[in-house]
Amino acid sequence: MCPFRSAEPGATAFQGNAAYQRSILATVPDAMIVIDDHGMILSFSAAAERMFGYAERDVAGRNVNMLMPQPDRQAHDGYMARYLETGVARIIGVGRVTTATRSDGSNFPIELAIGDAITDEGRMFTGFVRDLSERQQSERRLADLQAELAHISRVSAMGSLASALAHELNQPLTAIANYLEGARDLLGNSDAASLAMIREALDEAAAQSLRAGQIVRRLRDFIARGDSEKRVESLRQLVTEASALALTGSGPAAADLEVRLSADCDRVLVDRIQIQQVLLNLIRNAVEAMHRSPRRRIVIRSLSDGHGMVTVIVADSGPGLAPDAQDHLFEPFHTSKDQGMGLGLSICRTIVEAHGGRIWAEPADIGGAAFHFTLTIAADD
Ligand code: ADP
Repeated sequence: MCPFRSAEPGATAFQGNAAYQRSILATVPDAMIVIDDHGMILSFSAAAERMFGYAERDVAGRNVNMLMPQPDRQAHDGYMARYLETGVARIIGVGRVTTATRSDGSNFPIELAIGDAITDEGRMFTGFVRDLSERQQSERRLADLQAELAHISRVSAMGSLASALAHELNQPLTAIANYLEGARDLLGNSDAASLAMIREALDEAAAQSLRAGQIVRRLRDFIARGDSEKRVESLRQLVTEASALALTGSGPAAADLEVRLSADCDRVLVDRIQIQQVLLNLIRNAVEAMHRSPRRRIVIRSLSDGHGMVTVIVADSGPGLAPDAQDHLFEPFHTSKDQGMGLGLSICRTIVEAHGGRIWAEPADIGGAAFHFTLTIAADD
């Protein structure tokens, strides 16, 4: 490989010989991939060979987009052309968490940092790739367990609350029945005194219904309560990270993922971890639903409703929702899976509603199910 120097004006030149660079390439723990300005792979380190399952000779001279899943695979040439033309970097010098594809077609999450250099033989880009699958898998397992535990403990605490609640609700409901029966018995008399008593009974019945509503709402707040820390986040970043997590270890060609997010509603006010949990649940459900489908596609879209909310849609090309699942989809413990707990969607609903949004399911235009949820767009500061 040839010596290269930084493209940054004023940066010091770096000179080295080929043997020296080969020894670096053989030992750096992160995979290192060098490409030219057409995206063609010039060099592929030993760690890259282990991480991606390709030998350097298999990839040398091929387009680096072979190491990416869709939609990046298709879009990469365009990203590079735009950078070379405009100099505006989306990833270069910034680094980000994204997804890569191994030689067997399986996807895994990576942290990618890219440097840009001008060499004697032209422009080159050097990518350092760190495999996040192990770290993310254990973090994900932990996060899953924590979330499920927290929810289960709330649900079981709800069980002990239920008897107290039944007792509390029983009282206003009995009162409502009594007032309404009294009013009905008085309806035959049209004198002023009876009319006044009817009015009073109806007022009381209305007040007791409100009280019953408050009791129910208190319970709902209790279930929905959780520590949430809302910040302005980028929806694109949330979707990228959640899909990288969701597709980790999901085997060869788990699904073709297409992300079509509208740029005018990217900034949302959310608790990052919680909304990623929603996305993760929806994407994993989609992957699971499609395991027997010949064509496995997931499309994630966003669109602004024009009233300060963005709707996020996770659609799949699986079999769609079973007709009898529709009514109880978001209730806890409704599952069609042998190993399912039926908690994922109920947790999604709790989180989305705690964010002031809604969640619902519809048939998808690509054949399967489409889960929609809304989030608040962050006001410009
Ligand atoms: P679990 O995944 O443990 O079953 P969920 O609450 O996440 O719990 O899902 C409940 C049920 O909703 C699933 O068992 C499945 O029947 C249905 N479901 C969820 N997502 C999809 C989807 N994308 N396509 C078809 N059915 C789905």
